[in-house]
Amino acid sequence: MEQTFIMIKPDGVQRGLVGEIISRFEKKGFSLKGLKLMSVERPFAEKHYEDLSSKPFFEGLVDYIISGPVAAMVWEGKNVVATGRKIIGATKPSESDPGTIRGDFAVEVGRNVIHGSDSVENAKKEIALWFPDGTVNWQSSLHSWIYE
Ligand code: UDP
Ligand code: MG
Repeated sequence: MEQTFIMIKPDGVQRGLVGEIISRFEKKGFSLKGLKLMSVERPFAEKHYEDLSSKPFFEGLVDYIISGPVAAMVWEGKNVVATGRKIIGATKPSESDPGTIRGDFAVEVGRNVIHGSDSVENAKKEIALWFPDGTVNWQSSLHSWIYE
């Protein structure tokens, strides 16, 4: 089954949005397979965002991610990568639809509350980086009520 890496950024943790965000993924029917609150150091944040290292906002982005604890998660389910991106909403909150996490809870791109993997390949890379000791292998007893 497909997995994605979701991270609630420091602003989301500080603003008390952890429960709300977990709830949205849970209610959708996805399964939580990994969860930890952690503070990351600069080199780790730079590694996570290495594809963006040439962007003008890179340094500010790294400053943002290391500014407080983040909640790192692995969610599993059918099409969870693409659907997770829809639940999160567009990168710029001014373009995120109401009903999405960024549409409902964010104003600025540099304080957009949450990260989600953008492809299955990147999800695998990010899960390996953030959860080097692996995740928890379990299946919800609701499985047959969510999948036909
Ligand atoms: N970002 C920013 N300014 C920009 C574009 C992106 O500060 O002009 C930040 C924003 O927090 C975004 C992150 O960099 O979530 C990663 O950018 P990406 O294009 O990968 O967007 P995402 O995948 O998070 O929607
Ligand atoms: Mg991205």
